[in-house]
Amino acid sequence: MPTARVVAVAPGSPADAAGLLPGDELLTLNGETVRDVIRYQIQADEPRVELELRRGGLERLVVIDKAAGASLGLDLESAVFDRVRTCDNHCPFCFIHQLPPGMRKSLSLKDDDYRLSFLYGNFTTLTRFTEADLERVITEQLSPLYVSIHATDPDVRTALLRNRRGATSLRWLSALLDEGIEVHGQVVVCPGINDGDVLDDTLLGVLDRFPRLATVGVVPLGVSDHTTEAEMRPHTIAEAERVVDLVEEWQARFLAVLGRRLVYAADEYYLLTGRPFPALDAYDGLSQHENGIGMAAEFGAEVQAATRGEQVDVQGTRTGFFAWVDGAPAEGYRAPRVGLGTPVHFRAPRQPITILTGDYGAQVLGPLVGDLEAVAGMPVEVRPVPNRFFGGNIAVTGLLTGADLVAALQDAPADRRYLLPDVTLSNGRFLDGLTPADLPRPVEIVATDGASLVEAVRA
Ligand code: SF4
Repeated sequence: MPTARVVAVAPGSPADAAGLLPGDELLTLNGETVRDVIRYQIQADEPRVELELRRGGLERLVVIDKAAGASLGLDLESAVFDRVRTCDNHCPFCFIHQLPPGMRKSLSLKDDDYRLSFLYGNFTTLTRFTEADLERVITEQLSPLYVSIHATDPDVRTALLRNRRGATSLRWLSALLDEGIEVHGQVVVCPGINDGDVLDDTLLGVLDRFPRLATVGVVPLGVSDHTTEAEMRPHTIAEAERVVDLVEEWQARFLAVLGRRLVYAADEYYLLTGRPFPALDAYDGLSQHENGIGMAAEFGAEVQAATRGEQVDVQGTRTGFFAWVDGAPAEGYRAPRVGLGTPVHFRAPRQPITILTGDYGAQVLGPLVGDLEAVAGMPVEVRPVPNRFFGGNIAVTGLLTGADLVAALQDAPADRRYLLPDVTLSNGRFLDGLTPADLPRPVEIVATDGASLVEAVRA
């Protein structure tokens, strides 16, 4: 039977008043064996909650009366109390198969669970989706969901997922859209496989079969030095140009037919091709911001507005699509970037400033250095830190590791301020488990948005 372990009880909360303790295991809520935080929240919202719990091997019943919708005040160990549904695909571009040996086990979980799609925005392929799942999504209105499409041609999708259900599982996408569920799609483009004419055909397939998709993000595959897939390689510039051209052609078609752009190319494509980013309003609400789509345009706009002293409505990281679930654990998008004890932002003495970032981040920040220097009243250097840990074409700041930063800072001058975006951290740790305290120079951790960066450099 699935159980949910309590990891924290908010002081003064109804659960605290009822005597619940960290370590308690929830067996049922209002008589229901709850399988995940979604069901937990539905039951916990009731004004009277009967909790059957186990402590030290003994079971007991606790009844809590509170206002309807008020939080119980519990933090739970995981979002899913039965097992996370893992993926049965074998995509050649899967980044989990490209991790260096020895990484934390939790980073190698291949989930393909619509619940995590709803809770955290993880993309699901729907190859393990069932009729019962569909019924639940509709009944509980689990919307929006995020679906990996990759190709609408059944054979190409099967080959990309290396799963024969890849051919048929997009029927679930039709069913979700028919029921009014908001769905955002994604195409991971592997050059030579699903780019060019195949991508063109995929976008035609979207118009033909899935025009109710809210958005489709087109993103390039990442290839680390640890891939064992001979066919997987980074885009050439010409291939990246063709992707951007196709996406922009299809945006015009979607605009004409549906009245919205629907499809968007990842920022990485504009960096690869050296083309200017589209204007911020061409991203239509930045629904795929977390997927690296519109992030650069948003960041630039934030820096420029903040340097003019304007109030900035920061997009930043979303805290999860179910952020109001008080039981949901700190994982996925909810995980705080800085942890307890992380040396967050501190005001170092007035010294020249170095901003540490990935290769792509440096390209985004380059044109903004003049604005930042004007605010700082001193030189600002942007230092791209090569990603040697993963190697390959991995250049996003979020995948920088402690080891990369140690190498970059080893011989760096001591009389500078070093600023580091918090997107490199999860719960105060880099991907390789190191922490900012392990770096050879003190670094100031700055929230990864333009307004926070301007604030950090401000003289
Ligand atoms: S569906 Fe996702 S997790 Fe599963 S193999 Fe493909 S890329 Fe990896």
